Amino acid sequence: MSSNNLNKKEQNLKELLRPEVKAISPYYGEEENFEVEINLSGNESPFDLPQEIKTRFKKKFDQYDINRYPEIYSECLHQTLADYLSRELDKDVSTKEVIAGNGSDEILDMLIRTFVEPGDLVLSQAPTFSMYKYFTKLNGGQYEEISLDEEFNFKKLKAKIDKLKPKLIFLCSPNNPTGEIIERELILKLADYFAGPVIVDEAYADFSEIDLMPDIKDYPNLAVTRTFSKAFGLAGIRFGYLYGNQVLVEELKKVLKPYNLNSLTDLLACLILDNDDIIKERIEFIKKERQKLYQNLNQYQNWQLYPSMANFIYIEGEKTFEFKKILNQRKIKIRSYDTEPAAIRITVGSQEENEAVLEAFAEFKEQN
Ligand SMILES: *Cc1c(COP(=O)(O)O)cnc(C)c1O
Repeated sequence: MSSNNLNKKEQNLKELLRPEVKAISPYYGEEENFEVEINLSGNESPFDLPQEIKTRFKKKFDQYDINRYPEIYSECLHQTLADYLSRELDKDVSTKEVIAGNGSDEILDMLIRTFVEPGDLVLSQAPTFSMYKYFTKLNGGQYEEISLDEEFNFKKLKAKIDKLKPKLIFLCSPNNPTGEIIERELILKLADYFAGPVIVDEAYADFSEIDLMPDIKDYPNLAVTRTFSKAFGLAGIRFGYLYGNQVLVEELKKVLKPYNLNSLTDLLACLILDNDDIIKERIEFIKKERQKLYQNLNQYQNWQLYPSMANFIYIEGEKTFEFKKILNQRKIKIRSYDTEPAAIRITVGSQEENEAVLEAFAEFKEQN
């Protein structure tokens, strides 16, 4: 084909795009131009998989027929998950109340594809996780947010619901990127008032004292999503799930792609769910390190630190980007936000990684 024709065809492809796709840019996290030695930008766990679980996984893998498809809807994993939740909550959780996704991102997308028609509105908070907006827009929905400030209360939420008539509400608690909790009573009041699904993204709830899981059975339109990418240290296998009412779950299952989880994810997620003691120890460790980082970083007067219930710390203030520069010079990668005032988010890492952050902070304080 002549190069002229090639160009024309490429151009033509772009013209054929759905407007929603044309309007959106792909997601790229934080970009960097240095060699990263310590990555504190993705809120991942600093810990590797316990050796004992690795060994068991390898043994299972050896016996596994990888040439075969996985179970269509990961039935075995759903049972293991339901058993785990029953133990955690000390009540009977059935496989009909849970649905597993290829990362909780897949669940968020699925929720929108299940409920939101072109033009429908999705309501959330700001600032928050960017994927709610991304998936909403991609599916032709409208997205509105309520700022998560002192006035984020029931009266204001009720007024927004009455005015905007959303189809679906996403809340994120503990919130990414600020680490704040939304009060349980507020969420329950909202679930009571609002007719549609209230989805609480609890990606970080393992690090928090409060979560909504115990309330799921009392509120049919309330559901929580969880992930194994953060506290469970398994970002690489892409596993998340939703726990909610069985009517909701049954409908979501229609929208789910068959074979959405691969066999290796099925195997490893089951192994972790049956051996979660070590994960609990690690969570306690991260909480202690979070406290240490918070107390230290809070000594700089011109910053506002948010009390965090997650595995990261969010800092607002003028000189946060100067601090970021020093961190980057030391090959430490974090997240930053071009907001007013500017802000940064630092994942709580291993003891050594957090020490490295505090050394950078000492240098910052000398200069500022
Ligand atoms: C990391 C994160 C997720 C994504 O989890 P995956 O299971 O890795 O897709 C979802 N929600 C929030 C708020 C997150 O920070």
